[in-house]
Amino acid sequence: MSQTNCCQNIPFTRDIQSKKVYCKKHFIELIENRVRKTINQYNMLNKDDHIGLGYSGGKDSTVLLNILFKLKKRFPQCTLSALTIDEGIKGYRDECLELTQKITKKYQIPHVIISFKNIYGVTLDQIIEENLSKEYALSACSICGILRRRALNYAARKVNASKIATAHNLDDEAQSILLNLVRGDSNKFIRLSRFPIQKFQTLIPRIRPFVRITEPEIVLYAYAKDLEYHSYPCPYAFSAMRNHIRTFLSEMEEKRPSTLRNIVNLHDSVSQYFPQVDNLEPPFLCQKCGEVSTHEICPICQLLDNLGFKNPLKSEEPLNPHPQSGISDRFRSF
Ligand code: SF4
Ligand SMILES: [Zn+2]
Ligand SMILES: [Zn+2]
Repeated sequence: MSQTNCCQNIPFTRDIQSKKVYCKKHFIELIENRVRKTINQYNMLNKDDHIGLGYSGGKDSTVLLNILFKLKKRFPQCTLSALTIDEGIKGYRDECLELTQKITKKYQIPHVIISFKNIYGVTLDQIIEENLSKEYALSACSICGILRRRALNYAARKVNASKIATAHNLDDEAQSILLNLVRGDSNKFIRLSRFPIQKFQTLIPRIRPFVRITEPEIVLYAYAKDLEYHSYPCPYAFSAMRNHIRTFLSEMEEKRPSTLRNIVNLHDSVSQYFPQVDNLEPPFLCQKCGEVSTHEICPICQLLDNLGFKNPLKSEEPLNPHPQSGISDRFRSF
């Protein structure tokens, strides 16, 4: 890399997509512009949204916090809150929590921490221990995923957020698409929308502004901006079936750059034929916890019951005081 394609500054990196060489300053701008375009492409935000950012203190959510904080400055009606979920993973989450508190204080943004212990009465460690003794043990991430999802929705309702932003990146998105294919799960394959969908009134729409940014780009952005983040992996991470898909896709991306983008592009094309519907009437309110469910007893209560735990989480009112505004109000010039 002898010279850049952007200016006279020292070369920093070669962008795989455009094959151009950028200096540090213009690489940062390139990534921020891609995030802005993604937000517009999928109509992710309104000018007056209250964004509840799922913030774990890891690299992805730290970079997203940094970028959303910067973009938000141009929209004074927009609010940003950080939502941290404490699953109860000893020796791992405790350290992340300290960091998230320090960083949110620095940015001066509201920060809510919700723990599994508080809302489900048990920690993830306790659940995993109990689960391992069962004949057909679920993977730690399958259990954690479903519990985190509800906990994040609960945290977002607590701060009256109108959108939940998570830092899932292009790698995660391509993995999810392929995982659903491998499992033959057509429902999940179709439902994986990048547009914010409010399926039920109590479920706050989710957005993933990094679905067009790769993991290496996020790492490089964090390095370029010297961001502080927690870099130790979760001790349960290696049990996930997702890891097989991740390894396969990393190898493919190495051999054929654009593999990840092609998978998401293809899913975008196919998704046009399966439009998602907002504001459905919930078929059931769980008899045990009161949350919306497709069954009389929701999957979380079923899971905790099967493992011998109780689920004390109850719905709260008002559930979502921020009805979505019209399309004309989108972040066109984000
Ligand atoms: S790696 Fe799996 S178990 Fe660990 S926090 Fe993430 S989803 Fe939960
Ligand atoms: Zn430059
Ligand atoms: Zn329930």
